[in-house]
Amino acid sequence: MATEHCKMEVSGIPVEVVRKDIKNLHLGVYPPDGHVRVAAPQRLDDEAVRLAVISKLAWIRTRQKAFQAQVRQSQRELITGESHYYEGRRFRLDVIEHNAPPAVRLRNNQFMELSVRPGSTWAKRNEVLERWYRERLREQIPSLLTKWEPRIGETVAEVRIKKMKTLWGSCNPSARRIWLNLELAKKPPLCLEFILVHEMVHFLERLHNARFQELMDTVMPLWRSHRDELNRAPLAHEDWTY
Ligand SMILES: [Zn+2]
Repeated sequence: MATEHCKMEVSGIPVEVVRKDIKNLHLGVYPPDGHVRVAAPQRLDDEAVRLAVISKLAWIRTRQKAFQAQVRQSQRELITGESHYYEGRRFRLDVIEHNAPPAVRLRNNQFMELSVRPGSTWAKRNEVLERWYRERLREQIPSLLTKWEPRIGETVAEVRIKKMKTLWGSCNPSARRIWLNLELAKKPPLCLEFILVHEMVHFLERLHNARFQELMDTVMPLWRSHRDELNRAPLAHEDWTY
């Protein structure tokens, strides 16, 4: 049966609508970029779909808030003994105070050493750690672009790293620009690769439709397992289904 895709905006939230030969409307909020997608029966017109989304707005916002709460929860006290993640691996934070420029260093595959000046505030420690994550994420990007640009046949003009509350990545296909969530530095490297590829495939197809899935299956056959990995603890916001 033919499916039909369209986009609409409801109370400022972009919504993808897929019309299929189904009986009931289904609404979901999906990774990796937290988009709202509605599968609707063919007979329902746009207005009916819009009303259905409006009736679920509170639920959509609750889902997004739950994710934001988990992101906040991931911002720890930044004290010695806490678990912190880098490239999907767990490290024990070791805060060292001494009079030298602040730095982060991984030690013995086990410790994440955060050295700061004596009396540094939480904000300062957080800034040092975030800068380190940002630099680590940033340095992975050139080789990933070298690998994926020829495979996808698209070039990326710019990759920006950003703290995002509900999205792992986003893109502007006409500007060939991609935004990556800073949190990806904490995830296994294949998760970063998956999000980058996902966003690059959006240069070819903006919607998460069958064509998009086919393109993903062609360029990255194992993308579903990378997605599942990304959605697992500790920062997963929900158990998602596609
Ligand atoms: Zn997407």
